[in-house]
Amino acid sequence: MKEIGTAEFETEVLNGGKVILDFYSTECPPCEALASKFEDLSNHYGEDIKFLKIYRQQNRDLAEKLGVKSSPTLLFYNNGNEMANRLSGGIKRSDIIKNLDLMLPPDKVISIKSKIKPSVSEFDVIILGAGPGGLTAGLYLCQSKINTVLVDIALPGGNVSTTHEVSNYPGFIEPQAGYMLSHNMSEQTKLCGTVYKVAVDVTKVDLAKKEVLIDEFETIRAKKIVIATGTTPNLTGAAGEKELKGKGISYCATCDAKYFDNKEVVVIGGGNSAVEESEFISRFASRITMVHQFDKFTANKQAQDKVFANKKINTLFNSEPRSFTKADDKIITEIENVITKERSKLVSDGVFIFIGMKPNIDLFGNELEADKWGYINTNEDMLTSIEGVYAVGDVTSKKYRQITTAVADGTIAAMAIAKDLN
Ligand SMILES: Cc1cc2nc3c(=O)[nH]c(=O)nc-3n(C[C@H](O)[C@H](O)[C@H](O)COP(=O)(O)OP(=O)(O)OC[C@H]3O[C@@H](n4cnc5c(N)ncnc54)[C@H](O)[C@@H]3O)c2cc1C
Repeated sequence: MKEIGTAEFETEVLNGGKVILDFYSTECPPCEALASKFEDLSNHYGEDIKFLKIYRQQNRDLAEKLGVKSSPTLLFYNNGNEMANRLSGGIKRSDIIKNLDLMLPPDKVISIKSKIKPSVSEFDVIILGAGPGGLTAGLYLCQSKINTVLVDIALPGGNVSTTHEVSNYPGFIEPQAGYMLSHNMSEQTKLCGTVYKVAVDVTKVDLAKKEVLIDEFETIRAKKIVIATGTTPNLTGAAGEKELKGKGISYCATCDAKYFDNKEVVVIGGGNSAVEESEFISRFASRITMVHQFDKFTANKQAQDKVFANKKINTLFNSEPRSFTKADDKIITEIENVITKERSKLVSDGVFIFIGMKPNIDLFGNELEADKWGYINTNEDMLTSIEGVYAVGDVTSKKYRQITTAVADGTIAAMAIAKDLN
């Protein structure tokens, strides 16, 4: 692995044969997350592919010329031609390997892979998920001098990192940008000394043996596991939804309704949360249009009565969203009447989608006792039905899911574990 500057770009990269080039920055958590993977892969692929790093801040003109807009960004070259997709952000080891493999003949790839030896590392505690629940558990465990590893399939921060503003987390007078709040939580836990393995593939979790397999080759073993994998909102699947998430489309009324004071919003959904949250949003918004796929709401009668009596709320039944687009500050929701197939457009200041959340339990759901929606049951110490396995935050069965409640769960689990291990 070698560090280069702009002056060496031509000789080392354009005339350098097979090259992987890492544009990195300092004070960049995803760059830190990449560094150890880059170094490790250079040990395996380094004889056939040149591993180069370039400091983006000091080579700005070159970065701009190449269209590199974020750190880290990995570029792949073969005889001066850029090949394979660029990778940036929270880069996974498996995605780098896919690109590297494209640069080599198949027999070479097989030979390299046969030499990659599986590794095993031991910790006291494995935390799965680095959102507020997992980060808090990590902080408390670390401060109790318990050897802890935090594993996340993405970068640390969980749902908070993509939340526009958080105004209800105690201790901050002004609303905080979600990414800053989660960054600060993560740095506090990391500075304490918790080991991070983030932006990894979690391929297997054995709760009974307390073993987690990451990136297909590294086994992590511990005495305890904390599951803090959170939830994922169900998506409508309509075009434009993913792109506008956090930029006009929200999945949390408690968090975002206040930004729609005197504004018009569209709410998608018709179950309890859609109906109750619409009622809450109406404290702020001037007009709400609820779009629901069936001919009546599925929420309980009492909640429905409130909505029907609310003059700010209109309803469009038998309708589903087909696309979301942004025009200036407005969101255009294209809806289709599922009976007549007629399409029409709703112009609003924002859209809330409440069509359910799902707990992230795919890797271990069947092994644990859970409620009828799949959320993990715990006792008051956050212990699950399996000895030594704890669950905290949104993935657990509970009534209210907020940052403060996840943080509280993380605290409880960590204190219970510390007491047990000590
Ligand atoms: C858009 C939005 C806005 C919100 N705004 C607010 C607000 O203003 N105030 C408030 O209090 N609450 C807010 N919330 C709720 C709040 O974000 C959650 O209650 C909180 O983040 C829950 O924390 P958690 O640690 O349980 O889970 P999450 O934050 O969901 O974190 C879970 C982590 O686990 C990781 N993960 C998932 N699967 C795996 C796996 N198999 N292995 C390893 N890691 C995995 C994920 O990548 C993620 O990093 C908002 C939620 C959303 C969706």
